[in-house]
Formats: sequence, C-alpha cells, structure tokens
Amino acid sequence: MRLGALEASGRRMLCAIGNERGRVIEKQEFPTGLPEQNIADIVGFFQGKRIDALGIGSFGPLNLDPKSKDYGSLTTTPKPGWENFPLRRTLWEALDVPVGIDTDVDAAALAEVELGAGKNVDTLVYYNISNGIGGGVMVTGRLHHGLVHPEMGHMLLRPDPRDPEPKGFCPYHDGCLEGLAGKTAIEKRWGIPLEDLPADHVGWDIEADYLAQMCVNTIVMLSPERIVLGGPVMRQLSLFDRIRKLTTEKLNGYVAHKDVTGGMKGYIVPPALGENAVLTGALLLAFDALKNQ
Ligand code: ZN
Repeated sequence: MRLGALEASGRRMLCAIGNERGRVIEKQEFPTGLPEQNIADIVGFFQGKRIDALGIGSFGPLNLDPKSKDYGSLTTTPKPGWENFPLRRTLWEALDVPVGIDTDVDAAALAEVELGAGKNVDTLVYYNISNGIGGGVMVTGRLHHGLVHPEMGHMLLRPDPRDPEPKGFCPYHDGCLEGLAGKTAIEKRWGIPLEDLPADHVGWDIEADYLAQMCVNTIVMLSPERIVLGGPVMRQLSLFDRIRKLTTEKLNGYVAHKDVTGGMKGYIVPPALGENAVLTGALLLAFDALKNQ
C-alpha cells in the first residue's frame, strides 16, 4: 500500500509517501505561500506516484464536519489567501483518491496513540508548543472534534506576577495560553530569539508556570491518561521537570491517581515520534480514509 501524507503548516508544506505503519519512504517540502502555488507544488509531488489515499494534518481552524459542503476547508485563518480555502476538496479533485483530513495536532495525537508515546493508552492530549499553541485530543481511541475542534491554545490563564506582558500577544484574547506561552509570545516579551534566551532566565520560569497551568486545566477537564508536549519551545528540555513539579503543586493532591501523584515522569512526556508525529498521523488518516471510502 502506498499512502500520501501532507503536513500543512504556516511555514511549510511537507509532502511524503509512506505506508499504514507510519514508515516514510520519500518526502519533500515547499515553503508555505499562496494556495495556488502550494496546490501546484503538492499535486506535482503526488502525481504519478500511484498513492491509494492521502492524509492531511493541517493548520487550522478547519471545518471538520463530514456532513458540511465545506468539509476539510480552512475557516478563519489570517494567512493570506487561505481563508475559507477548500483544501481537502481541491486535493481530492486533483488526485482522485480518498482524502482524510484533521488538524495537525489531532494527527500528532493519533500517531502518538497508535505508534508512539501513548501506545498503551487511548485517552491522550498532544500539545504543540510552537509559534502558536495547538492541542489535539484522543478520547477512548477517537479524535475529539465536537462543535468544531478543540482550540486549547486559547484557554485563559492566570497571569504570572513576574510577567511584564501579562495580557500576552494574542490578537483575539487577553491572557490566553498561546498569547502568553507560544514561541512568538516569548520572543516578543523578551525581545530576543528563543534560542538566545539563557537557560537560567526568568522567562523559562514563567513559561513553566504557564505550561503547568495548561496541564492542570487539561487534567481536570479531560482526565487524559497521558499528556505529550512537543514543538520547538520544548527543546528546552529542563522545562519538562519544572512543568511536572509545578503541575503537581497546583493540583495539590486533588486528583488522586498514581500516574499524577508520583512525579509525572511517565505522564507528561515528549513525543516518541519527535518531529515526525504530524506526518505519521497524516499517513494514518490516509489509511482511515481508504478503509472508510
Ligand atoms: Zn487567544
């Protein structure tokens, strides 16, 4: 079986050929630009490669209602040209194979449950802590969409008293997670690239506090069996222990399960699939689309 995968982000369109076990045999990326150019890039990559189905893990927000005529379209994105763009339908018409689509973080959550850090659980939350912050949710083995799909990057947090920018930088909300703790927010707050923020800078203490609030909210809202934290901000590996400690403190013993009372070493974890999580998930979405056609 030959499956196609597309990881669509604000930075790049990553196309790959692989199989239903998540193995990638070929890939190529194109910088994200206007839809017309990117669709030509993507179709050019997949044409002639005899794929049986395509899976897409995309930036959002997306319309994920299979009954809607706009299923698989972008909705309110500020990215030029992409607002309301029918991503799934355009690629389905051009390639004439079943096309599965979900958010990039849902794809990553699916991949981590099937093949990665959540292989022995079926309720898991995956957060990508990047320029923005997104969360994907698997509940009892199914990706959760509900009304639209979760937008956990915009949960409201309590500002840290040490934060000189307590309203954060989200254009929509004062004090939301993405506006306070995304990579862009950290860089705007301190005026330097993330890579240049010293390991002992108070900015990392504040970041750990915000991400611990995120974990507490996630635990009390969704009761996941595991939380996976990926993305470029989490390359500062010392964050993991700080987040575990602060999450434990903030829960204050209220959730009495050994997985969250024992230090959380195996509970709040990095992605086992690393930076391949979204692409792997897209292959699994392609396989699902093929089975369900
Ligand atoms: Zn927001």
